[in-house]
Amino acid sequence: MIKGSVFNQFMLMYIFNLLLVSINAFPLEDDASLKNIYSLSTEDTMMRVGIKNNAPALFQMNSTGNKWNWASRPREISLMNHVYIRGERKSIKWEFKDALLEEKNGTKLALNFKAAHPPLELSSIWKAYPGPGPIEHEILIRNLSTEEIQIPIQKTIDFQLLLPIRHQIECWWVEKGNGTPSLIGTHKEIIYDGYYFYKPSTPYCLAPGADMIPWITIQDRKALHGFYMGIESSGQVCINISANGTPLILDVKSGIDDTYVEYRSRIPPQGSYETPACFIGCFKGDVDDGANRLHRFVETRLRPPVHDARYPLLVNNSWGSGMAVDDTLARKMIDDAAALGIEIFHLDAGWYKGVGEWRPHPDKFPKGLVPIVDYAHQKGMLFGLWVGWAQGGNPPNGMSKLAVSNPDMKNWFPRDLPEQWRPEDFTGETVCLACDQAKSWCLEELRRIVKEYKIDLLEHDQRVAVEVCPRSNHRHLDNPADISHHATNGYYEIYDRLRKEFPRLIFENCVNGGRMVDFGVAKRVHYICFTDTYNPLSNRRGFYDASFPLPPSMCEAYVAHHPGPTLDTFKAMLRSGMMGWCAIMCDTSSWTMEQKAAAKRQFEIYKTWIRPLINKGNLYHIEKRPDGVRWDGMQYYDPQTGKGIVFAFRATTSRKDHIYKLKGLLTTEEYQIRYEDGTSTSSLQTGDHLMNYGLFVRLEEPETSELIYIEKR
Ligand SMILES: [Zn+2]
Repeated sequence: MIKGSVFNQFMLMYIFNLLLVSINAFPLEDDASLKNIYSLSTEDTMMRVGIKNNAPALFQMNSTGNKWNWASRPREISLMNHVYIRGERKSIKWEFKDALLEEKNGTKLALNFKAAHPPLELSSIWKAYPGPGPIEHEILIRNLSTEEIQIPIQKTIDFQLLLPIRHQIECWWVEKGNGTPSLIGTHKEIIYDGYYFYKPSTPYCLAPGADMIPWITIQDRKALHGFYMGIESSGQVCINISANGTPLILDVKSGIDDTYVEYRSRIPPQGSYETPACFIGCFKGDVDDGANRLHRFVETRLRPPVHDARYPLLVNNSWGSGMAVDDTLARKMIDDAAALGIEIFHLDAGWYKGVGEWRPHPDKFPKGLVPIVDYAHQKGMLFGLWVGWAQGGNPPNGMSKLAVSNPDMKNWFPRDLPEQWRPEDFTGETVCLACDQAKSWCLEELRRIVKEYKIDLLEHDQRVAVEVCPRSNHRHLDNPADISHHATNGYYEIYDRLRKEFPRLIFENCVNGGRMVDFGVAKRVHYICFTDTYNPLSNRRGFYDASFPLPPSMCEAYVAHHPGPTLDTFKAMLRSGMMGWCAIMCDTSSWTMEQKAAAKRQFEIYKTWIRPLINKGNLYHIEKRPDGVRWDGMQYYDPQTGKGIVFAFRATTSRKDHIYKLKGLLTTEEYQIRYEDGTSTSSLQTGDHLMNYGLFVRLEEPETSELIYIEKR
């Protein structure tokens, strides 16, 4: 290979890929009905997909360099076998038409099928990108007829997978951290004959443990490898798994959730319908190893691009002072935050006239927001703004407001509200974004807000996608999964447009703290608040759970004021929110000089040592999930830079000493170990010692912490 020639390297890769495709595009000899087999691969995941019984099927799935083929008993994906025309059920029969293969920045394969009466097309679309991570799949259905049709459920993933005999296989999944993270959060279940798994993910998780973040990992503990999958949708979706027989056969399905209510959706004449995209990826090692590879995929392929080299940025959020925020208080907070080294001032709820009327409150901001935004910019900070833009209120009529009583807007909301209905301080009635006029209004209003107020960061809060809406002139039919499917698509359209128009704008997803956490919203925002309870323990629990499926840079903790009795407990409060995206939500003016100095030091460490690890390092869950009693901790290590860190937390336990077994180091290398607070003396230790014997930490007082730096010699 010619050294340094990117073009030639690319050409060689391209030719190699073409060869791969032609080599693998042969019929398997043992089954005459099998043909058109294609290979797709990422750095980690290898698949062969093709046609079986006039349907797409997975013939091979393994991690690169590992021989175990999870898909050695292929079964075709079940394609919908009927549609409805004018209410009448019509059986349809799919026939394989052709396959289109595109080799451009990875591999995109479309397996195309057609049906005759009515004329329909269905494409099973597979995408594999260079680099780490999974392979994506989605199904596109086109209505070629001149009439509207209705379709039943079409799952995106529908595989039969084979498990090795006499291996302990586990299924891992995590809850959304909404409200308050529950006592369990991260689940690990052994798969046995008769095992059944069903868990939904919805646009608005209603109770702790009710929803999963739509991600699972299947881990072979004996052979140390496995696979994970996820759903790129914020609608009502689910993953189903059942295991039966000897050897165990896994039946794996994911996509729209039709468990409790029959699913139907409409496709207009000449229109199309896409199932939620799902991904599936293989890994070597344990659950953390798989998650670290997935994190890199989410960062490069799903999350919107990041234009600020400092990402994840350090935020001071005005909610530390609640709804009381005004011009004077905001300036004081900006002064304080700038002195502490914080990078964004974020104006939370309380700045506007009322819900649905997203203009500065004249009593609080008599000169508007722009002078405050300019002030933050002068101090070298970015400016973020909270907008509950999908919430309607009941202000007097006028098109500059989203109002439930406006006769032109009434129908945009799922229900008619009485004249005397009033919104709360920051929650109103959620508009249905499957209504085109409502969607256009919200987009136009957001454009105005971003431009007029010159903001750098937009946070959305409260529900954005409805699940109940009986209106018949919106895009959906009257079933919850279809309502949420179209409402989330409406939200995605708004954010995709905004991002095109304001490429440097940073997006935050709050939705009442961790209620909408999935890979669909991860494609639209830069970070996601994972819980609505902001004490140190909840922040550590929420981070522990969310950082399996999501890159840690996207996992946002709000740090509320729980300083405890000493400076060490104050530092533990900050550090509990500093493992991912960190938003300080305290009235920092109430901090003592001593606390301010300690905070400034922590923020300096965050920016110089921790942040590069959050972005590029591997994350390891080196302890059990925090329970508020025993010691807990997390570890980062970046093999590229040879740097790492351990976040050590002693909860209420009386045990002063703890040993952490580290991960991801090289046994033969030596590492310099330093303690930020000087609780133990620095030392030089081998990777073998740190991983097999462990790292010693001693903390004299409960509910305190230590940061331990790791650096390869
Ligand atoms: Zn609707």
